[in-house]
Amino acid sequence: MKLSLIIPCYNEEECVEKFFETASSVFEAQSYKTEYIFVNDGSEDKTLSLLKKIYVENPRVNIISFSRNFGKEAAMYAGLKAAKGEYICFIDADLQQRPELVAKMVELLEKHREYDCIAAFAKERKEDSSFARFAKKKFYSLMTSVSGIEFVGGASDFRCFRRNVADAILELCEYHRFTKGLFAWVGFNTRYVPYEIQERGGGDSKWSLGKLFSYAFDGLVAFSTKPLRWPLYCGVGCLAFGIIYTLFYLLFNIIRRQQLSEAAVLISLLFIFFGLTLTALGILGEYIGKIHIQVKKRPVYITSESYAAKEREKFAPVLQEELEREAAELKKLKIKRAKFKEMKRQQRVMEQLVAQQQIEQEALEAEQEAEAFEEKVQEGKKQEKKRKVKAKKQKPRSEEAEDAYTTGPESGFEDE
Ligand code: UDP
Ligand code: MG
Repeated sequence: MKLSLIIPCYNEEECVEKFFETASSVFEAQSYKTEYIFVNDGSEDKTLSLLKKIYVENPRVNIISFSRNFGKEAAMYAGLKAAKGEYICFIDADLQQRPELVAKMVELLEKHREYDCIAAFAKERKEDSSFARFAKKKFYSLMTSVSGIEFVGGASDFRCFRRNVADAILELCEYHRFTKGLFAWVGFNTRYVPYEIQERGGGDSKWSLGKLFSYAFDGLVAFSTKPLRWPLYCGVGCLAFGIIYTLFYLLFNIIRRQQLSEAAVLISLLFIFFGLTLTALGILGEYIGKIHIQVKKRPVYITSESYAAKEREKFAPVLQEELEREAAELKKLKIKRAKFKEMKRQQRVMEQLVAQQQIEQEALEAEQEAEAFEEKVQEGKKQEKKRKVKAKKQKPRSEEAEDAYTTGPESGFEDE
């Protein structure tokens, strides 16, 4: 068996048949075998009888039915325990997560041996209010800061992983499960792929805001004991303030020989006693935190690979092959990088050439313009010259005419 699909179902009578139809059409086209593990989480509608119908008509379908509703986390755990596949995938029954993407995830795992888990993440859910989006974002950043392991915002339980990851998750048998956190805790090489949440195939979401809050709180408590330290920090702060305040107050009053005020003494005592109580609580919390971690019985570490010296003959050729493949890939990558660099260089040279050509073209145009202007000026000068010459030629005649007009009658008058 190559792929095990784990499908938790709670009151999904409107979706299970549609889901199976879509999923089987996707996986029948694949070359590998797929098993379906439907986990009926105490549905009160016709989900179970519809699942039984699917079971009767189809091979490779498994059903696990709970005695009551234990929650999605329990359903995923039960499915994981039953899965036999080389690859395992959690997917919801409501078709909001598409089986087509599962096929792509399997393809990625087949192609890239370096990935152990492919997790789908939705950038945002369209149906979420802006408050819900803000709260989710803050929750994941808070989880990352208090637990010390990275929680990727938007990453869902919709993920496909290898058998070694499934085995590691199965080693964590704690009761309050927060699967997203468990995946983050076990580590392994995870690749995140974006996906768009589709419309529900029918029915409604089973998560109310209250349920989401309690789920988030469970997650926080399950993955961090840091909140237990907060009283310790407060207690130490209160105690320090109480002691400093008392010392300063006493010193000030002794120097000035004044009587102590009752209120001031009360404030000092309150701070010191509150500080002591909170510090004691914090110390108690430290021990409770240790017990909390111990009770979970989480493994001290998780091995992803190990090669024993006595099995060298078996593993060495495989590892050699892997090393050679890696070296070849590195070489390819280097060649690609070098080509890319060369292309970038050529692009830069081309850009410089184009810019230079542009500058030359502009200079040429400017020169032509200047020449044209010069020609115009010369032409203007020539015209001016011609006009002046013409004017000069016309001037004597007109002056003669003028003289004739002024001297003629006068002389005639004088003659008289
Ligand atoms: N589910 C479940 N038990 C529950 C709640 C939900 O098995 O108590 C299943 C449900 O049938 C669906 C999946 O978990 O297949 C996701 O639930 P839902 O679609 O209600 O959650 P949402 O997509 O709104 O986060
Ligand atoms: Mg859903």
